[in-house]
Amino acid sequence: MHPVTDWLAVRARLTPSKIAVVEVSSGIRLTYEQFNERVNRLAGYLQRSGVSKGDRIALLSPNSIRYLELLFAAGKIGAMFVPLNGRFSIPELAYVVNDCKPRILVYTDSYQSAVSGLTSHTEIPILLNESGYQSVLTESTEINRFVPLEMEDPWAIIYTGGTTGYPKGVILSHRAITWNAINTMVSWGITENDVTPVYLPMFHTGGLNALTTPVLYAGGTVVIGKEFNASSIIRVVETERCTIALFVPTMYHMLIQAPEFAEAAFSSMHTFLSGGAPCPSSIYEAFRTKGLNFKEGYGLTEAGPNNFYIHPQDAKRKIGSVGVPMFHTDIRLVDSNGNDVSDEETGEIWIAGPHLFSGYWNKPQATVETLVGGWLRTGDLGRRDEEGYYYITGRKKEMIITGGENVYPLEVEHVLESHPDINEVAVVGLPDPKWGEVVTAVLVTVKHKRISGEELKTYCAGKLAGYKIPKLFLFVDELPKTSVGKIDKKRIIGQYSKIG
Ligand code: ATP
Repeated sequence: MHPVTDWLAVRARLTPSKIAVVEVSSGIRLTYEQFNERVNRLAGYLQRSGVSKGDRIALLSPNSIRYLELLFAAGKIGAMFVPLNGRFSIPELAYVVNDCKPRILVYTDSYQSAVSGLTSHTEIPILLNESGYQSVLTESTEINRFVPLEMEDPWAIIYTGGTTGYPKGVILSHRAITWNAINTMVSWGITENDVTPVYLPMFHTGGLNALTTPVLYAGGTVVIGKEFNASSIIRVVETERCTIALFVPTMYHMLIQAPEFAEAAFSSMHTFLSGGAPCPSSIYEAFRTKGLNFKEGYGLTEAGPNNFYIHPQDAKRKIGSVGVPMFHTDIRLVDSNGNDVSDEETGEIWIAGPHLFSGYWNKPQATVETLVGGWLRTGDLGRRDEEGYYYITGRKKEMIITGGENVYPLEVEHVLESHPDINEVAVVGLPDPKWGEVVTAVLVTVKHKRISGEELKTYCAGKLAGYKIPKLFLFVDELPKTSVGKIDKKRIIGQYSKIG
């Protein structure tokens, strides 16, 4: 039994006048003392409104300080913070709300009509709109009854992106969030001098826990951006003197294409991190040629999310590697019989450590299938080289079986991405009566240049075994993306299955 420490209050005592949070859209800058005071008022209001230990507190908002205020307020009263994906349709939101049954929903004016739609499908006892929330922050009195908590008590439920099915509520305990922060801080060397811009959606683990909670744990500064705009991000990174940032590859694509990118020195930045999806080598190159430190991380909602780290000198030597397991993280690569594979062989990534989730909300079957004997079976595939460095090689579910042969889409995507006229590519298996699945490349070319499928087959020959070379090439203007900016293969397969 380990009691929970109110670590925001500790930070507020240690470094009261240090800036904790900046909100770009409003210009608000809060010191740790001010931030903790606002959180205490919010916690006081929630308690007086009857929100008690174990209740869910939902939020519908663009990226803003509210995410962090509600997260920490929930933490102080033993409630669970549930950030809702604001890009979901009303039926999708209704699914999530009916699943987690929040006692209170906080929302911004921009979601007024979504909330009206939602309340006709669901029952939510307390609704708090933007002006109500503001009054709480200024008028409410601080919490006076702290709830004794243990590290295993849940702190948040984050619904996964739904890339592979129905959104699942991932329960993160105080232990998981705190240990992810400790692991990240110790492994990546995060200190109170770090400043991170947060442009990934904060309803997603990437925006909430990859760097945000670790930087706050370390006493650094979090700069919250409302929406992704490449030019303004470059300006914010320069003016706020940011030091470490995480974006998904789609965002990096947009940054590189911004007119300001060529001139930007990013002199305060010590690390650019990519995560959430495979990162094309052209992105690495664009940053490395500027002399900047660019690394890839691997994570998932169920595991903190962070699991690996790589030193800058190794990142240059081991291109495409996510590095070695973080402190307090154990990794296995396992075959379909549950045996560990040898170096250089591909296996499913299994993870153990104190940063793992506690289970899926209301989904005991999915929990026992995913969390087995303390190991999280990620459904992702990886390889370890002889020196112990790991490489992500794709998702198990996305593996294509064509004529009895296994094809890992990521390997094919890396080859096609290296073609100078290709901007983005997704390789999928489409159903086919002869082959079972046919390897298909769906492509966006640079400036919509026309290339023939035959030309691309010739380009792949010699770089890939014959059965891995796509038989079908589909040229599109844009690839569909999920709400966090990942290429949406489920939609691609649904859309083109008739063609295969
Ligand atoms: P769902 O679990 O519903 O399918 P999701 O896949 O978007 O949604 P997240 O937790 O948001 O779930 O994302 C984690 C996934 O992102 C990982 O399981 C992995 O497939 C992918 N991913 C993360 N980092 C990398 C990386 N560096 N390279 C390749 N894939 C990555």
